[in-house]
Amino acid sequence: MADYLETEWSSAATAARRERYYAQSQKKFVPFKEPMVFRKGSMQYLWDTEGKKYIDLLGMNVCISVGHSHPKVVAAAMAQAQELTHCTTMFYHPTPAHFAEELAATMPKGHEWVVHFTNSGSEAIDLAMVMARTYTGNLDLLALRTAYHGPTSAAQSLTGIAGFRHPGMPGNVAFVAEPNQYRGIFGPGTEPYLDEIERTIASATTGKVAGIFVESVQGYGGIVEMPKGYMSGAAERVRAAGGLYIADEVQSGFGRTGDHMWAFESDGVVPDIVVMAKGIGNGFPLGAVVARKAIGDVMAEKFMFHTYGANPTSCAAGRAVLKVIAEEKTQENSRQVGAALLERLKDLQQRHTAIGDVRGRGLMLAIEMVKDRKSKEPDADVTAAVFESCRGQGLILSKSGPNRSVLRMVPPMCLSLQDVDRVADGLDRAFTEAAA
Ligand code: PMP
Repeated sequence: MADYLETEWSSAATAARRERYYAQSQKKFVPFKEPMVFRKGSMQYLWDTEGKKYIDLLGMNVCISVGHSHPKVVAAAMAQAQELTHCTTMFYHPTPAHFAEELAATMPKGHEWVVHFTNSGSEAIDLAMVMARTYTGNLDLLALRTAYHGPTSAAQSLTGIAGFRHPGMPGNVAFVAEPNQYRGIFGPGTEPYLDEIERTIASATTGKVAGIFVESVQGYGGIVEMPKGYMSGAAERVRAAGGLYIADEVQSGFGRTGDHMWAFESDGVVPDIVVMAKGIGNGFPLGAVVARKAIGDVMAEKFMFHTYGANPTSCAAGRAVLKVIAEEKTQENSRQVGAALLERLKDLQQRHTAIGDVRGRGLMLAIEMVKDRKSKEPDADVTAAVFESCRGQGLILSKSGPNRSVLRMVPPMCLSLQDVDRVADGLDRAFTEAAA
């Protein structure tokens, strides 16, 4: 069966086909100067067509939560695909029903939670926008600058980075300053950023809002953690204006930040709606909106049908992911291995002046490059040079942040302490090379 589809594996042939047949919109997002073709993945490792091994610190864009081609996840999805690959959500199937129950059980206790499965994170964001507007009867939404919430038109309207915004987005979104503790416009602290929410509601909305969307840790924005008190304070202020608090856990969820299953838990806030995707399926396409029941109930009047929503193959993968997280203690591993990696990154900061900041929690980490530590002027060139050099060292990272001056690390949560040594040593060499 492996030969059923004839495949030409050479990098040159793949590059030529992409160049000829991909639309420009799908060609733009290319990280390295030379084409990179991966042939195989296993847990935290990848192999290219020449057999060179890499540590995947990007986790294929945070989709690989418990490990590439994790045998238990693949087996669960394969078994389901062989039995019944797809079952439209109008018919009942036990796999998504079980998964909904299991996901709801991960939410804060004392509330009734309901689940709507989508195909992707941005679809889930769109649905959360509709739910918030329908439930509150208000139109205006708040989002954070440097936020990323997805490529659909509605999700783009909440995205606070110009490079991801295209013409034709819907409006009624007001942006507030992201509480970036390294380079935020109000400096470090929480209160000034909460005051800004109040000012924005008073000036850029009708005074009533449908809600605020907050990535509990901003991902594409360059691993921007919400400081203590921000998420709960934002929820309080938005609720006072009639709105809901919507947590985007697409990157930060499923135990990645180490201390909690959901990163919003670090601030004690109980969201009204939680959006999740990526790591939920360990590479199988899946997203979900988990909402308080009373909020989900307002959607009873009309159809909201995602063709592949609640697809049993992806949901079987999702169920297996939750089981693996528990069995293999991946959250605890994220905490321990993430702390060890953070220490090593701080050590690199001591020795390489290009590193302005090191930050993050669990296995959601970043280093930010600057031309000068005092002025904090972002350095996209050094970032790109280190990134390219890391390829040679067998490390795959991500250039992130609005200025492409951040190296983001969001590996599969099975990264080991031995890997930490390889990562730190590789980065060390890459910074030395970049400075030469
Ligand atoms: N929210 C966040 C925080 C994301 O990082 C992403 C994807 N990068 C999305 C939403 C959108 O998810 P998707 O690409 O699955 O539509």
